[in-house]
Amino acid sequence: MHRVLVTGGLGFIGSNLIKLLIKQKYNVINIDKISYSSNFYNTKEFKKNKKYKFIKCDIQNKKKILQILNKYKPLGIFNLAAETHVDRSIDGPQNFIYSNILGVFNLLESFKKYYKKNKNIKLIHISTDEVFGDVLKGRSKETNSYNPSSPYAASKASSDHLVSSYIRTYKIPAIITNCSNNYGPKQHPEKLIPKLIYNILNNRKLPIYGKGKNSREWIYVSDHCEALLKIYKKGKIGQFYNIGSNQNLNNLEVTKKLLNIAKSKIKLSKNVKIKFVTDRPGHDLRYALDSTKLIKTLNWKPKTSFKKGLELTFMWYLKNIKYFNSLSKKDIDRRIGKIS
Ligand code: NAD
Repeated sequence: MHRVLVTGGLGFIGSNLIKLLIKQKYNVINIDKISYSSNFYNTKEFKKNKKYKFIKCDIQNKKKILQILNKYKPLGIFNLAAETHVDRSIDGPQNFIYSNILGVFNLLESFKKYYKKNKNIKLIHISTDEVFGDVLKGRSKETNSYNPSSPYAASKASSDHLVSSYIRTYKIPAIITNCSNNYGPKQHPEKLIPKLIYNILNNRKLPIYGKGKNSREWIYVSDHCEALLKIYKKGKIGQFYNIGSNQNLNNLEVTKKLLNIAKSKIKLSKNVKIKFVTDRPGHDLRYALDSTKLIKTLNWKPKTSFKKGLELTFMWYLKNIKYFNSLSKKDIDRRIGKIS
């Protein structure tokens, strides 16, 4: 039996990763502090599976993490637990410092202690392309220096540096992954694509920051999860791996493509149209990753085109309309991250 621990598994990517891990016959322990972005709807399809167990735990709780490691003896940890919304990090950076920096520090301390007597464990620390900051031309390689713009990106950059320093100093077996913008089923509607879908389904206008020119490299969540599993199995300890689709689209292009898909599936209300709103402060114009290392050394490639992925995503929300009921309306509707 191969047991792994996933942190942040009630969130978007974590719950998609657990689904894949269970399908691949892994036993999974999900630890999550249960926050506004957690959703038990995300885990309901496997919550009764014998291969799955949920434990409420904050990764800042060093003692409890060590107890869980000693009790369940996992062979791997995928660390996805984090505060993740840039706008929230603008309004209140403190939680980001606690979860993303102190949380990772505490996780590393427990891991280091456990590793002394359990040499067969490894840690995959999941991070983001946002640590590289604005990339107006070209694509960031793993060797590029970090240049984070938002408190969110800075907190993730700090956590990556901590993991990297523990690899070097304490020789812990860990790998760091930096992925581009994910989309797909089970993502909180505070993020662009599910927010647009929520508004389409509720006959509302579609808010776009600035002029919609901000460009992101969009990857379908299951492609990210497959990359993580590949890196877990075959990745080289101590390395960084970029994970991206090599496909950039700006927010306006994303919205227009989504509107076309929606029109082909349902009747749209006249109210459903694009509305430009004040931009987010410090909004990076473009992120883009060079994922050649992962593609060449581990033979991975993304399987889902943006068109296909967007259609799958729209259809998932359409069929899982109850997903939205489990979230607070305030967390969906409130505009945050404007500073004033
Ligand atoms: P999410 O907000 O949907 O889920 C995060 C989960 O982590 C939530 O369930 C939350 O309760 C939990 N969590 C937060 N702090 C915790 C703590 N201290 N202890 C235990 N649990 C905690 O986020 P997501 O989009 O699924 O992102 C998961 C990870 O992937 C994050 O580390 C994020 O930085 C990274 N990432 C996300 C993207 C993306 O586009 N969403 C891209 C690249 C990397």
